[in-house]
Amino acid sequence: RAKLEGGNTFSFYSPSMDADARRRQIIEAQLRGALARDELSVVYQAQNNLDSGNIIGTEALLRWHSAELGMVSPAEFIPVAEECGLIIPIGSWVLRQACAQNKIWQDLGLPRLRVAVNLSARQFRGDTLVDEVAAVLKETGLPAEFLELEVTESALIHNIDAAVATCRKLKALGVKLSLDDFGTGYSSLAYVARFPFDKLKIDQGFVRDITHNPANAAIATAAIAIAHGLNLSVLAEGVETEAQAIFLRNRRCDAMQGYLFSKPSAPEAITTLLVNNTRLFLGLTHSASEQA
Ligand code: C2E
Ligand code: MG
Ligand code: MG
Ligand code: MG
Repeated sequence: RAKLEGGNTFSFYSPSMDADARRRQIIEAQLRGALARDELSVVYQAQNNLDSGNIIGTEALLRWHSAELGMVSPAEFIPVAEECGLIIPIGSWVLRQACAQNKIWQDLGLPRLRVAVNLSARQFRGDTLVDEVAAVLKETGLPAEFLELEVTESALIHNIDAAVATCRKLKALGVKLSLDDFGTGYSSLAYVARFPFDKLKIDQGFVRDITHNPANAAIATAAIAIAHGLNLSVLAEGVETEAQAIFLRNRRCDAMQGYLFSKPSAPEAITTLLVNNTRLFLGLTHSASEQA
């Protein structure tokens, strides 16, 4: 902040530059050519209804396998992409990939699912987002209701009125909106009600030790109540154990996402998962009708 406002700072490469800053600079340089070199890919993680277990959707998650650096985590390179602006072309690419892939799954005749795409603050603040989303839906043929956009509080708090307006325009296209990483932000709860969200995603930090940390259990339980009080659905992120899933289901959480059911996986692996899920579903329907 001081850097931005001071205006009297210089940026240069020097041996004394600390290791973090050097790493950041290398990531930026390598990321610049990553799309052209075909180093980026999108994986998908299933989301399940907590009562039925059925898959209700997937979340698209970006992966970067750099020729120079190996696998780099999005937790590391997304913030860099955000700062240097590369998130704009990369984010557009992810959106297109995810919509096209979801349309492929729909065209297989499987039960139709929603795909969730993460938006960074910079994408969200740009003035081209709404038109771009509309164009991508048109190009890929994915009906708007099967696209969900995930935003975090940090994307919204800079200019709440502008953010509310953008959310309304997105909703007018017919897409769904989720608030990601709920509980990790710093602003008041009042703003949540101002946004036309469809879903809250409880951050995995609260879910991880939900069965033995009473404070986090209380926060997760309160988050579920807030969501339902506002007529939103609620999904818990990072569900790794059956005990966590049962705890959340008992507290009427609607959906879960986590390693317990699905790791983020290549599209082909998700196709298999979807086909098997459908077989299971058809199998259940079949035995039910036999009994009737
Ligand atoms: P997120 O949107 O909150 O995504 C959930 C993260 O939790 C993912 O990490 C996912 O792999 C991880 N996860 C899911 N289930 C479990 C679990 O059971 N246990 C544990 N320990 N982790 C689990 P990932 O893929 O490393 O992504 C990290 C973050 O990077 C994402 O958090 C999101 O904020 C950002 N990101 C990823 N892809 C994109 C993208 O295409 N665009 C933007 N703007 N951000 C992205
Ligand atoms: Mg997300
Ligand atoms: Mg999250
Ligand atoms: Mg996160």
